[in-house]
Amino acid sequence: MNVAIWGSGYYGTKLRMILEHCDPNGKSFRAMYFVDNDEKKWGEVYLGLKILSPDTLKRSNESIDGIVIAVSNEKINDIVNQAKKIGIKRILLLPTWQYKKTDVDLNEIMEIEYEKPRLNYLEFHASEHCNLNCKGCASFCGLITEPRFIDERVLFDDLKRLKELVWGIGIIRILGGEPLLNPSLHRIVSFTRRVFPDSDLRVVTNGLLLPSLSRELINAMRCSGAVFDVSVYPPTQKRINEIKCICELNEIEYALNRIEEFYKVLDPSGKNDPHISLLNCIAPGCTLLKNGELTKCVFLQYVDLLNASFNMNFRVDNDDRINIYSDGLDGNKLVEMLNRPSGFCKYCTQNPIPYKWEAVGYKVAKEDWVIG
Ligand code: SF4
Ligand code: SF4
Repeated sequence: MNVAIWGSGYYGTKLRMILEHCDPNGKSFRAMYFVDNDEKKWGEVYLGLKILSPDTLKRSNESIDGIVIAVSNEKINDIVNQAKKIGIKRILLLPTWQYKKTDVDLNEIMEIEYEKPRLNYLEFHASEHCNLNCKGCASFCGLITEPRFIDERVLFDDLKRLKELVWGIGIIRILGGEPLLNPSLHRIVSFTRRVFPDSDLRVVTNGLLLPSLSRELINAMRCSGAVFDVSVYPPTQKRINEIKCICELNEIEYALNRIEEFYKVLDPSGKNDPHISLLNCIAPGCTLLKNGELTKCVFLQYVDLLNASFNMNFRVDNDDRINIYSDGLDGNKLVEMLNRPSGFCKYCTQNPIPYKWEAVGYKVAKEDWVIG
Protein backbone atom coordinates (compact mmCIF):
# COMPACT_ATOMS: atom_id res chain seq x y z
CA MET A 1 0.00 0.00 0.00
CA ASN A 2 1.45 3.39 -1.02
CA VAL A 3 0.95 5.92 1.73
CA ALA A 4 1.76 9.47 2.67
CA ILE A 5 2.77 10.09 6.29
CA TRP A 6 0.75 13.05 7.56
CA GLY A 7 3.01 14.88 10.00
CA SER A 8 6.77 15.35 9.72
CA GLY A 9 7.51 16.21 13.36
CA TYR A 10 8.30 13.81 16.20
CA TYR A 11 5.66 11.20 15.31
CA GLY A 12 6.21 11.43 11.55
CA THR A 13 9.96 10.96 11.99
CA LYS A 14 9.42 7.93 14.21
CA LEU A 15 6.85 6.43 11.86
CA ARG A 16 9.16 6.81 8.87
CA MET A 17 11.87 4.95 10.84
CA ILE A 18 9.46 2.27 12.06
CA LEU A 19 8.31 1.58 8.48
CA GLU A 20 11.91 1.47 7.22
CA HIS A 21 12.88 -0.89 10.03
CA CYS A 22 9.83 -3.22 10.06
CA ASP A 23 9.00 -3.19 6.37
CA PRO A 24 12.17 -2.25 4.43
CA ASN A 25 10.76 -3.50 1.11
CA GLY A 26 7.48 -1.70 1.55
CA LYS A 27 5.38 -4.89 1.33
CA SER A 28 2.66 -3.58 3.65
CA PHE A 29 3.30 0.16 3.60
CA ARG A 30 5.48 2.09 1.18
CA ALA A 31 5.94 5.70 2.31
CA MET A 32 5.80 8.02 -0.71
CA TYR A 33 5.62 11.50 0.84
CA PHE A 34 5.27 13.43 4.03
CA VAL A 35 2.36 15.87 4.31
CA ASP A 36 2.44 18.76 6.73
CA ASN A 37 0.38 21.84 7.55
CA ASP A 38 3.54 23.86 8.25
CA GLU A 39 4.10 25.87 5.07
CA LYS A 40 7.76 26.48 5.96
CA LYS A 41 8.39 22.77 5.31
CA TRP A 42 6.60 22.47 1.95
CA GLY A 43 8.91 21.33 -0.85
CA GLU A 44 11.73 20.20 1.48
CA VAL A 45 13.05 16.64 1.30
CA TYR A 46 13.14 14.97 4.72
CA LEU A 47 14.35 11.42 5.40
CA GLY A 48 14.28 10.81 1.65
CA LEU A 49 10.67 11.95 1.17
CA LYS A 50 9.28 15.19 -0.19
CA ILE A 51 7.08 17.19 2.20
CA LEU A 52 3.83 18.16 0.46
CA SER A 53 1.17 20.65 1.41
CA PRO A 54 -2.34 19.22 1.87
CA ASP A 55 -3.36 20.97 -1.39
CA THR A 56 -0.51 19.33 -3.32
CA LEU A 57 -1.47 15.99 -1.82
CA LYS A 58 -5.01 16.56 -3.05
CA ARG A 59 -3.66 16.91 -6.60
CA SER A 60 -1.42 13.81 -6.17
CA ASN A 61 -4.17 11.82 -4.47
CA GLU A 62 -4.15 9.16 -7.21
CA SER A 63 -0.51 8.23 -6.48
CA ILE A 64 -1.30 7.02 -2.96
CA ASP A 65 -3.77 4.55 -1.48
CA GLY A 66 -4.13 6.44 1.77
CA ILE A 67 -2.44 8.36 4.55
CA VAL A 68 -1.08 7.30 7.91
CA ILE A 69 -1.59 10.01 10.50
CA ALA A 70 1.47 10.67 12.68
CA VAL A 71 0.65 13.61 14.97
CA SER A 72 -0.05 14.02 18.68
CA ASN A 73 -3.27 12.53 20.01
CA GLU A 74 -5.09 15.85 20.44
CA LYS A 75 -4.48 16.86 16.80
CA ILE A 76 -5.72 13.61 15.24
CA ASN A 77 -9.35 14.66 14.87
CA ASP A 78 -8.45 17.85 12.97
CA ILE A 79 -6.24 15.91 10.56
CA VAL A 80 -8.95 13.29 9.95
CA ASN A 81 -11.42 16.06 9.10
CA GLN A 82 -8.90 17.79 6.84
CA ALA A 83 -8.01 14.54 5.04
CA LYS A 84 -11.69 13.73 4.60
CA LYS A 85 -12.30 17.14 3.01
CA ILE A 86 -9.55 16.69 0.42
CA GLY A 87 -10.93 13.29 -0.56
CA ILE A 88 -8.32 10.90 0.89
CA LYS A 89 -9.63 7.39 0.30
CA ARG A 90 -8.18 5.57 3.30
CA ILE A 91 -7.11 7.15 6.59
CA LEU A 92 -4.92 5.08 8.88
CA LEU A 93 -3.35 5.68 12.27
CA LEU A 94 -0.61 4.28 14.44
CA PRO A 95 -1.99 5.18 17.91
CA THR A 96 0.36 7.55 19.73
CA TRP A 97 0.90 5.26 22.76
CA GLN A 98 2.39 2.66 20.38
CA TYR A 99 5.33 4.99 19.63
CA LYS A 100 6.63 4.42 23.17
CA LYS A 101 7.08 0.70 22.50
CA THR A 102 10.43 -0.72 21.41
CA ASP A 103 8.79 -3.45 19.28
CA VAL A 104 6.03 -1.83 17.22
CA ASP A 105 3.96 -4.28 15.19
CA LEU A 106 2.67 -2.87 11.90
CA ASN A 107 -0.58 -4.73 12.51
CA GLU A 108 -1.24 -2.04 15.12
CA ILE A 109 -1.78 0.48 12.32
CA MET A 110 -5.56 0.83 12.32
CA GLU A 111 -7.96 2.06 9.69
CA ILE A 112 -10.21 4.92 10.75
CA GLU A 113 -13.93 4.60 9.96
CA TYR A 114 -14.01 8.29 9.20
CA GLU A 115 -17.70 8.53 8.40
CA LYS A 116 -18.14 8.36 12.19
CA PRO A 117 -16.90 11.10 14.58
CA ARG A 118 -14.37 10.69 17.38
CA LEU A 119 -15.53 11.40 20.92
CA ASN A 120 -13.05 13.68 22.72
CA TYR A 121 -13.34 12.19 26.17
CA LEU A 122 -15.00 9.45 28.21
CA GLU A 123 -14.82 8.42 31.84
CA PHE A 124 -16.41 5.68 33.88
CA HIS A 125 -16.21 4.54 37.50
CA ALA A 126 -14.60 1.15 38.05
CA SER A 127 -15.47 1.39 41.78
CA GLU A 128 -17.88 3.86 43.28
CA HIS A 129 -16.54 3.75 46.84
CA CYS A 130 -13.19 5.14 47.93
CA ASN A 131 -10.51 4.51 50.55
CA LEU A 132 -9.96 8.23 51.15
CA ASN A 133 -13.33 10.03 51.16
CA CYS A 134 -12.40 13.63 50.57
CA LYS A 135 -14.79 16.36 51.70
CA GLY A 136 -17.00 17.38 48.77
CA CYS A 137 -15.84 14.58 46.40
CA ALA A 138 -17.67 15.19 43.10
CA SER A 139 -18.54 11.49 42.94
CA PHE A 140 -20.17 11.70 46.40
CA CYS A 141 -17.96 8.86 47.66
CA GLY A 142 -18.52 9.85 51.29
CA LEU A 143 -22.19 8.92 50.83
CA ILE A 144 -21.36 5.39 49.67
CA THR A 145 -20.78 3.17 52.69
CA GLU A 146 -20.68 -0.25 50.98
CA PRO A 147 -18.29 -1.45 48.24
CA ARG A 148 -19.86 -0.78 44.83
CA PHE A 149 -18.21 -1.94 41.60
CA ILE A 150 -19.12 -1.35 37.99
CA ASP A 151 -20.93 -4.25 36.32
CA GLU A 152 -18.24 -5.52 33.95
CA ARG A 153 -20.59 -7.16 31.48
CA VAL A 154 -22.72 -4.03 31.16
CA LEU A 155 -19.59 -1.90 30.75
CA PHE A 156 -18.16 -4.15 28.05
CA ASP A 157 -21.45 -4.09 26.11
CA ASP A 158 -21.59 -0.31 26.47
CA LEU A 159 -18.04 0.13 25.17
CA LYS A 160 -18.81 -2.09 22.18
CA ARG A 161 -21.98 -0.10 21.52
CA LEU A 162 -20.03 3.17 21.67
CA LYS A 163 -17.60 1.75 19.13
CA GLU A 164 -20.56 1.36 16.76
CA LEU A 165 -21.27 5.07 17.12
CA VAL A 166 -17.78 6.65 17.07
CA TRP A 167 -14.52 5.58 15.43
CA GLY A 168 -12.49 6.35 18.54
CA ILE A 169 -12.20 8.28 21.79
CA GLY A 170 -9.43 10.81 22.45
CA ILE A 171 -9.01 10.24 26.19
CA ILE A 172 -10.53 7.52 28.36
CA ARG A 173 -10.17 7.86 32.12
CA ILE A 174 -11.07 4.97 34.39
CA LEU A 175 -11.81 6.37 37.82
CA GLY A 176 -14.12 6.19 40.80
CA GLY A 177 -14.21 6.16 43.76
CA GLU A 178 -10.84 4.47 43.90
CA PRO A 179 -10.52 2.22 40.83
CA LEU A 180 -7.69 0.20 42.38
CA LEU A 181 -10.20 -1.22 44.87
CA ASN A 182 -11.77 -3.14 41.97
CA PRO A 183 -10.12 -6.59 41.78
CA SER A 184 -11.15 -6.87 38.08
CA LEU A 185 -9.46 -3.62 37.07
CA HIS A 186 -6.91 -5.49 34.94
CA ARG A 187 -9.71 -6.98 32.82
CA ILE A 188 -11.39 -3.59 32.49
CA VAL A 189 -8.15 -1.92 31.36
CA SER A 190 -7.38 -4.65 28.80
CA PHE A 191 -10.90 -4.76 27.39
CA THR A 192 -11.12 -0.98 27.09
CA ARG A 193 -7.81 -0.95 25.22
CA ARG A 194 -8.99 -3.70 22.84
CA VAL A 195 -12.13 -1.79 21.91
CA PHE A 196 -10.44 1.62 21.70
CA PRO A 197 -6.86 1.14 20.49
CA ASP A 198 -6.57 4.84 19.60
CA SER A 199 -7.24 6.30 23.06
CA ASP A 200 -4.98 7.92 25.61
CA LEU A 201 -6.02 5.47 28.35
CA ARG A 202 -5.63 6.56 31.97
CA VAL A 203 -6.45 5.15 35.40
CA VAL A 204 -7.09 7.94 37.88
CA THR A 205 -6.07 7.01 41.42
CA ASN A 206 -5.30 8.60 44.76
CA GLY A 207 -2.22 6.35 44.70
CA LEU A 208 -2.62 4.81 48.17
CA LEU A 209 -2.92 1.28 46.76
CA LEU A 210 -0.19 1.60 44.13
CA PRO A 211 2.46 0.01 46.38
CA SER A 212 0.41 -3.22 46.40
CA LEU A 213 -0.38 -3.54 42.67
CA SER A 214 -1.28 -7.04 41.46
CA ARG A 215 0.86 -8.70 38.78
CA GLU A 216 -2.23 -8.89 36.51
CA LEU A 217 -2.81 -5.16 36.75
CA ILE A 218 0.85 -4.37 36.13
CA ASN A 219 0.74 -6.49 32.95
CA ALA A 220 -2.56 -5.02 31.79
CA MET A 221 -1.30 -1.45 32.30
CA ARG A 222 1.97 -2.15 30.52
CA CYS A 223 0.51 -4.03 27.56
CA SER A 224 -2.19 -1.39 27.12
CA GLY A 225 0.22 1.53 27.37
CA ALA A 226 -2.11 2.91 30.06
CA VAL A 227 -1.01 5.72 32.37
CA PHE A 228 -1.64 6.20 36.10
CA ASP A 229 -2.96 9.72 36.73
CA VAL A 230 -2.12 10.09 40.41
CA SER A 231 -4.12 12.72 42.32
CA VAL A 232 -1.66 13.82 44.96
CA TYR A 233 -3.59 14.69 48.12
CA PRO A 234 -1.74 15.17 51.43
CA PRO A 235 -1.94 11.41 52.37
CA THR A 236 -0.59 10.53 48.90
CA GLN A 237 2.22 13.06 49.25
CA LYS A 238 3.61 11.05 52.19
CA ARG A 239 4.02 8.00 49.92
CA ILE A 240 5.10 9.78 46.77
CA ASN A 241 8.60 8.30 46.52
CA GLU A 242 7.24 4.80 46.96
CA ILE A 243 4.61 5.46 44.26
CA LYS A 244 7.16 6.80 41.79
CA CYS A 245 9.46 3.87 42.44
CA ILE A 246 6.71 1.25 41.90
CA CYS A 247 5.63 2.82 38.58
CA GLU A 248 9.18 3.20 37.32
CA LEU A 249 10.24 -0.33 38.35
CA ASN A 250 7.22 -1.73 36.53
CA GLU A 251 7.67 0.55 33.51
CA ILE A 252 4.22 2.08 33.85
CA GLU A 253 3.90 5.71 32.87
CA TYR A 254 2.46 8.03 35.52
CA ALA A 255 1.50 11.67 35.92
CA LEU A 256 1.28 13.47 39.25
CA ASN A 257 -1.47 16.00 39.79
CA ARG A 258 -1.18 17.88 43.10
CA ILE A 259 -4.61 18.77 44.51
CA GLU A 260 -4.92 21.07 47.50
CA GLU A 261 -8.30 22.70 46.84
CA PHE A 262 -11.78 21.47 46.06
CA TYR A 263 -14.72 23.58 44.84
CA LYS A 264 -18.29 23.82 46.06
CA VAL A 265 -20.61 24.48 43.10
CA LEU A 266 -24.11 23.14 43.64
CA ASP A 267 -26.72 25.85 44.05
CA PRO A 268 -30.15 24.38 44.95
CA SER A 269 -31.96 27.54 43.74
CA GLY A 270 -31.40 26.36 40.13
CA LYS A 271 -31.54 30.00 39.01
CA ASN A 272 -28.26 30.07 37.07
CA ASP A 273 -28.13 30.47 33.30
CA PRO A 274 -27.05 26.98 32.10
CA HIS A 275 -25.01 28.45 29.22
CA ILE A 276 -23.00 30.68 31.58
CA SER A 277 -22.61 27.85 34.11
CA LEU A 278 -21.21 25.68 31.36
CA LEU A 279 -18.68 28.38 30.42
CA ASN A 280 -17.47 28.32 34.06
CA CYS A 281 -17.77 24.54 34.41
CA ILE A 282 -15.28 22.90 36.81
CA ALA A 283 -15.42 19.66 34.79
CA PRO A 284 -15.75 20.72 31.14
CA GLY A 285 -16.27 17.92 28.64
CA CYS A 286 -16.09 15.16 31.29
CA THR A 287 -18.56 12.81 29.59
CA LEU A 288 -19.46 9.96 31.93
CA LEU A 289 -20.65 6.46 30.97
CA LYS A 290 -22.82 4.44 33.31
CA ASN A 291 -25.27 1.63 32.60
CA GLY A 292 -25.84 2.42 28.93
CA GLU A 293 -26.15 6.17 29.49
CA LEU A 294 -23.88 9.12 28.81
CA THR A 295 -24.08 12.32 30.81
CA LYS A 296 -22.19 15.60 30.54
CA CYS A 297 -20.61 15.10 33.96
CA VAL A 298 -20.54 13.01 37.10
CA PHE A 299 -23.24 15.03 38.94
CA LEU A 300 -25.96 13.88 36.60
CA GLN A 301 -25.41 10.22 37.46
CA TYR A 302 -24.66 10.52 41.16
CA VAL A 303 -26.57 13.52 42.54
CA ASP A 304 -29.38 11.17 43.60
CA LEU A 305 -27.08 10.13 46.45
CA LEU A 306 -27.11 13.72 47.70
CA ASN A 307 -30.88 13.98 47.24
CA ALA A 308 -31.48 10.77 49.18
CA SER A 309 -29.03 11.54 52.01
CA PHE A 310 -30.15 15.11 52.69
CA ASN A 311 -33.70 15.21 51.37
CA MET A 312 -32.73 17.56 48.58
CA ASN A 313 -34.33 18.01 45.20
CA PHE A 314 -31.73 18.41 42.45
CA ARG A 315 -33.69 17.27 39.40
CA VAL A 316 -32.10 15.40 36.50
CA ASP A 317 -34.37 15.44 33.44
CA ASN A 318 -34.63 12.48 31.07
CA ASP A 319 -32.99 14.58 28.34
CA ASP A 320 -29.90 14.98 30.55
CA ARG A 321 -29.11 11.28 30.18
CA ILE A 322 -28.41 9.97 26.69
CA ASN A 323 -29.36 6.35 26.17
CA ILE A 324 -26.66 5.02 23.84
CA TYR A 325 -28.98 2.25 22.66
CA SER A 326 -31.83 4.57 21.63
CA ASP A 327 -33.25 4.12 18.11
CA GLY A 328 -31.96 6.46 15.46
CA LEU A 329 -28.94 7.62 17.49
CA ASP A 330 -25.77 7.99 15.48
CA GLY A 331 -22.33 9.29 16.45
CA ASN A 332 -22.83 12.79 15.05
CA LYS A 333 -26.11 13.22 16.88
CA LEU A 334 -24.47 11.95 20.06
CA VAL A 335 -21.58 14.43 19.85
CA GLU A 336 -24.02 17.25 19.12
CA MET A 337 -26.16 16.33 22.16
CA LEU A 338 -23.08 16.25 24.40
CA ASN A 339 -22.02 19.72 23.25
CA ARG A 340 -25.28 21.33 24.40
CA PRO A 341 -25.64 22.51 28.01
CA SER A 342 -27.61 20.12 30.12
CA GLY A 343 -30.70 21.36 31.98
CA PHE A 344 -28.88 20.40 35.18
CA CYS A 345 -26.19 23.07 34.54
CA LYS A 346 -28.64 25.59 36.07
CA TYR A 347 -27.67 24.15 39.46
CA CYS A 348 -23.99 25.04 39.03
CA THR A 349 -22.99 28.42 40.39
CA GLN A 350 -20.94 30.68 38.16
CA ASN A 351 -18.70 31.44 41.14
CA PRO A 352 -17.44 28.12 42.51
CA ILE A 353 -16.32 28.40 46.15
CA PRO A 354 -12.84 26.98 46.80
CA TYR A 355 -11.93 25.30 50.08
CA LYS A 356 -8.91 23.48 51.40
CA TRP A 357 -8.75 19.72 50.86
CA GLU A 358 -9.81 17.61 53.84
CA ALA A 359 -10.55 13.90 54.34
CA VAL A 360 -13.86 13.53 56.16
CA GLY A 361 -14.44 9.78 56.12
CA TYR A 362 -18.18 9.24 56.33
CA LYS A 363 -18.89 12.32 58.48
CA VAL A 364 -20.47 14.29 55.68
CA ALA A 365 -22.77 17.31 55.55
CA LYS A 366 -24.72 18.71 52.63
CA GLU A 367 -22.66 21.92 52.95
CA ASP A 368 -19.67 19.90 51.66
CA TRP A 369 -21.26 20.25 48.20
CA VAL A 370 -24.06 22.78 48.41
CA ILE A 371 -23.73 26.58 48.59
CA GLY A 372 -26.07 29.01 50.36
S1 SF4 B 1 -9.74 10.29 46.34
FE1 SF4 B 1 -11.18 11.80 47.08
S2 SF4 B 1 -11.92 12.90 45.25
FE2 SF4 B 1 -10.92 11.01 44.58
S3 SF4 B 1 -12.60 9.54 44.41
FE3 SF4 B 1 -11.72 9.29 46.45
S4 SF4 B 1 -12.97 10.62 47.72
FE4 SF4 B 1 -13.36 11.23 45.63
S1 SF4 C 1 -23.77 20.35 35.58
FE1 SF4 C 1 -23.00 21.44 33.77
S2 SF4 C 1 -21.80 23.16 34.56
FE2 SF4 C 1 -22.14 21.75 36.27
S3 SF4 C 1 -20.31 20.45 36.32
FE3 SF4 C 1 -21.85 19.39 35.08
S4 SF4 C 1 -21.47 20.01 32.97
FE4 SF4 C 1 -20.38 21.46 34.31
